[in-house]
Amino acid sequence: MELYADVIVDISHEKLDKSFQYRVPERLKSKIQVGMTVKIPFGKTNREMTGYVVNLTGQASICADRIKEILDINERAESIEAKMMGLAAWIRSQYGSTMNQALKTVLPVKAKVQEKQKKTIRLLLSAESAQEYLTEAKRKHYAARVRILEALLASESKTLDYSEALRELQITSATLKPLLKEHIVAVDCDRVYRGGFQQMESADRKRQTSNVQQRMVIEGILEEFRTNGRPCLIHGVTGSGKTLVYMELIQSVLEQGKQVIVLIPEIALTYQTVRRFYEYFGNQVSILHSRLSQGERYDQMQQAREGRVKVMIGPRSALFTPFPDLGMIIIDEEHENSYKSENMPRYHAREVAIQRGKMERAQVVLGSATPSVDSYCKAKNGEYALFSMTQRYENRPLPKVEIVDLREELKAGNRSMISEPLAKAMQQRLQRGEQIMLFLNRRGYAGFVSCRSCGYVAKCPHCDVSMSLHNHGKLVCHYCGYETNAYQQCPSCGSPYIGGFKAGTQQIEKMVKSMFPKSRVLRMDFDTTRKKEGHTEILEAFNRREADILIGTQMIVKGHDFPNVTLVGVLAADLSLNDVDFRSGERTFQLLTQAVGRAGRGAVPGEAFIQTYQPGHYSIQAAVSQDYEAFYEEEISYRTLMKYPPASAMMAVFGGSTDEQLLEQGMKYIGEYISRLDKKNVLQVIGPAPESVSRVQDIYRRVIYIKHEDRNLLTALKDKLEEYIEMNSGFSNIHIQFDFHI
Ligand code: ADP
Ligand code: ZN
Ligand code: ZN
Repeated sequence: MELYADVIVDISHEKLDKSFQYRVPERLKSKIQVGMTVKIPFGKTNREMTGYVVNLTGQASICADRIKEILDINERAESIEAKMMGLAAWIRSQYGSTMNQALKTVLPVKAKVQEKQKKTIRLLLSAESAQEYLTEAKRKHYAARVRILEALLASESKTLDYSEALRELQITSATLKPLLKEHIVAVDCDRVYRGGFQQMESADRKRQTSNVQQRMVIEGILEEFRTNGRPCLIHGVTGSGKTLVYMELIQSVLEQGKQVIVLIPEIALTYQTVRRFYEYFGNQVSILHSRLSQGERYDQMQQAREGRVKVMIGPRSALFTPFPDLGMIIIDEEHENSYKSENMPRYHAREVAIQRGKMERAQVVLGSATPSVDSYCKAKNGEYALFSMTQRYENRPLPKVEIVDLREELKAGNRSMISEPLAKAMQQRLQRGEQIMLFLNRRGYAGFVSCRSCGYVAKCPHCDVSMSLHNHGKLVCHYCGYETNAYQQCPSCGSPYIGGFKAGTQQIEKMVKSMFPKSRVLRMDFDTTRKKEGHTEILEAFNRREADILIGTQMIVKGHDFPNVTLVGVLAADLSLNDVDFRSGERTFQLLTQAVGRAGRGAVPGEAFIQTYQPGHYSIQAAVSQDYEAFYEEEISYRTLMKYPPASAMMAVFGGSTDEQLLEQGMKYIGEYISRLDKKNVLQVIGPAPESVSRVQDIYRRVIYIKHEDRNLLTALKDKLEEYIEMNSGFSNIHIQFDFHI
């Protein structure tokens, strides 16, 4: 059978769709793969060019005898472009997407924005001749020329900023013309690299020195790289000083002439964190963040490729920085959800980092105070090397944590969001002039139903996850589609206080202000951070102690270091506990531990209150005792029992369509096709069921979950489904996406 390769020759973003088809000669058929670099004859003259294979097919797209043959393949990817191609091919095969989508993910966008130029006017004459010229100009009443020359002579560098000069001296470019012509002045253009933090002074560089605990981890990781080369997981309690560990590791990689990528959740990418890296590395560091324009991002990537920048810090997408000789990838707060892409291809940055590390011989270092269950499981299996930091820097104590049982509060008649004990503690801190953080554990999802008298939560009897309340008055499970009527009374205790949870940060702010009228309050949520720098402004103001109390959602608990905060109140710990998915227990433990960890990072010891309706839940118990191991043991046994990842691999097939009936049909066909393929009946297939948000902007959504211990089997199944969907025109109005949980 003939084999054809779609080859692209220009990998700039806009040209990705322009591929050319070539025949694969017999001798290359067994070797060729998507993502490889090939030599091809191109154009009328058959000039030899390098191209990249983006697809392989048995079907010729044009008349077969007009198709030319591939000359050769390059098996060793050497250029950075070829490496990124290979990575895109891997992403495509692992997560399910087109090669085009994968390429758009890994390649920087070459936006057609004008490069910013910095222009300067420079005096070409000696001071003496310029003085002569000035006298002459004055005599001839050339007022504009006089202004320029006087300004140039007054300037120490004998230069002026072009646009400033035009504005302030009130001259036009026409005035400059004769001066340029007579070689009195010149105008120089320098390309300016755009980028957020570029201007930061590196003058007052401070370097901390690592302590024994930090040095042990650094040595251990460098040793691991010299020997087995496994990914390294640092489990370090909050405040143990992981940042300095990262910085010294980076330093040692830079000394080898290599470059480093550091991933940080966008939300923690604050001035504060960034400043620490700048203080250590100066202008070798560059920051990518979502507020940069496309042009600015492209510049940053260009600087990395050319070696002017050696450390790239940023969220998920920084992973694709085209460093020529990548030595290390660090992922801080590796448990964060934001490392998982929610768009096609739905890749996980941790997995892609490990793959890139393998392909480019770069070491991968993961760090967290609350590692993901997935990573910790791998560390326990020996797939990752594990390093622990159990002490806070300078042996500062971890905060003392107290639990407040909200059921008792309700019984005592207190229905406010702030319990008695927390209110008392707040009063005390305000008197002492210490700072307080109040954390409302809330995400976009509402939906779950719980009893405020006894803590009962409505869960699916089959899947053991919270069910969510739908508009039509039913409780629905989003894994299997199980439905039941919503309750008027708690089935467990009969209380009428059963329902959804509704309070927001604004209500809390109001309440705090009425309880403590003299306190200065800052609120940080979606509303107050919508402005471009809103996020940073609030954190900076709090850091400068311009407020006593900071109220916020999850964005306030990630990675910030406020030494004067001695009290943290978690207002409703249960909110994330009842998220409608199997990771809710894990996420709750992580959030609570991170939140509690904000207290007492400075000299004064900290204290935290966790308010909850379910004080007995293991996630909450473990967060109170700050015992990761205890949490992990409980969680992994739940996952094993229910066959959730990492005990089993799990693939979701999401379907979306404006036509509800068509979608239902299509998803049913997919379900049936899966059972036809699964002859030995080894897969666990759940659904199709409505997604947790079953209709968004008039697009209906359904999902099928498939579980099996072997990830590779699910990947193979995905390949089959992709073929099936492509071949059946019935799916043309259904949008299908794959999503892997591992
Ligand atoms: P983590 O990220 O592990 O929660 P950080 O890296 O933010 O902790 O460190 C906590 C605090 O301890 C920071 O204020 C940091 O400046 C300080 N610190 C950590 N290690 C050192 C060190 N070796 N010398 C001086 N200060 C340190
Ligand atoms: Zn009840
Ligand atoms: Zn269910």
